[in-house]
Amino acid sequence: MIIDFRSDTVTKPTEGMLAAMATAKVGDDVFGEDPSINELETLAANMFGMESAIFCPSGTMTNQIGIKCHTQPGDEIICDESSHVYQYEGGGIAFNSGASVKLLHGDRGRITADLVKASINPDDPHRARTSLVSLENTSNRGGGSCYEFSEMQRIGEVCREHKLAFHLDGARVWNAIVAKDETTKQYGELFDSISICLSKGLGAPVGSLLLGKKDFIRKARRIRKVFGGGMRQAGFLAAAGTYALQNHIQRLKEDHAHARQIADTLSKKSFVKQVLPVETNIIIFEVAAPLTAAQYVEKLKEKNILAYAIAVDRVRLVVHLDISKEMVTKTCEVVEKMN
Ligand SMILES: *Cc1c(COP(=O)(O)O)cnc(C)c1O
Repeated sequence: MIIDFRSDTVTKPTEGMLAAMATAKVGDDVFGEDPSINELETLAANMFGMESAIFCPSGTMTNQIGIKCHTQPGDEIICDESSHVYQYEGGGIAFNSGASVKLLHGDRGRITADLVKASINPDDPHRARTSLVSLENTSNRGGGSCYEFSEMQRIGEVCREHKLAFHLDGARVWNAIVAKDETTKQYGELFDSISICLSKGLGAPVGSLLLGKKDFIRKARRIRKVFGGGMRQAGFLAAAGTYALQNHIQRLKEDHAHARQIADTLSKKSFVKQVLPVETNIIIFEVAAPLTAAQYVEKLKEKNILAYAIAVDRVRLVVHLDISKEMVTKTCEVVEKMN
């Protein structure tokens, strides 16, 4: 048995999900004729109380389309230095939108209204025009950390005051919603655009959605075509996404409990210098010298447990749909025996 904690993207469709995919009604979505995609887009938009949604192959694409729709070349985007939109989308902000980035030094991926306010460029021809603030919740590099909703609201107020667009990279927003007892509607009211991923904790094989106002999503449809993301009978994938939204949200609580259990076990070991606070499904810990993260990952691999070294001294484990209670128990046993 391989226990794979490398990412919550490694999940395989469940039987129920496969059945939903196999029986999906499909059509040509570029013509707007795929009933399963239309159903998913409506479901997701309604969940968040937003006007419209568009289904895309990846979260990178939904973020990049969002950024492209909100900006003009030469504009500047404000985000945390560890943001996925900046770190892991291949330089897409510059490549796709010709925009520059003002990186803020947040707390485990979370920035504040004060930091945002202080970094908006004045209306001066020497300076890039600040046009967009992008948040990430939960924060991936932050180890699944969640914003306080009130801080996101304060940032939203700063955006409104300065006429900046407000985007959420909500690849793991479900984890935040479940962990903090929030609602999707709260998010829909606050942000101009939201990117959500179906292929992370929710366990779908492919797919993300960008949510926003009708005109915004109309513009997004054009950009999606330009980016090569217009798909045809992709309703088979959308059906998996709809199934995930209907069946896999509340169960994220189990992932969070499992993550805490593993973190507790790790925190008692002398080879662990520190476990970062575990708020959702991601565990990041620092190994004590002279052991390196890569060496520790290798030791786990010998026991059929897969993890990821994200820095010289940092190991990341991500809990997800395909990690069972038995696997968590087994992992804790292995960790307890390690020296
Ligand atoms: C995974 C992820 C994305 C999107 O990634 P894709 O692999 O392109 O779907 C975006 N933002 C965050 C924070 C992520 O973790």
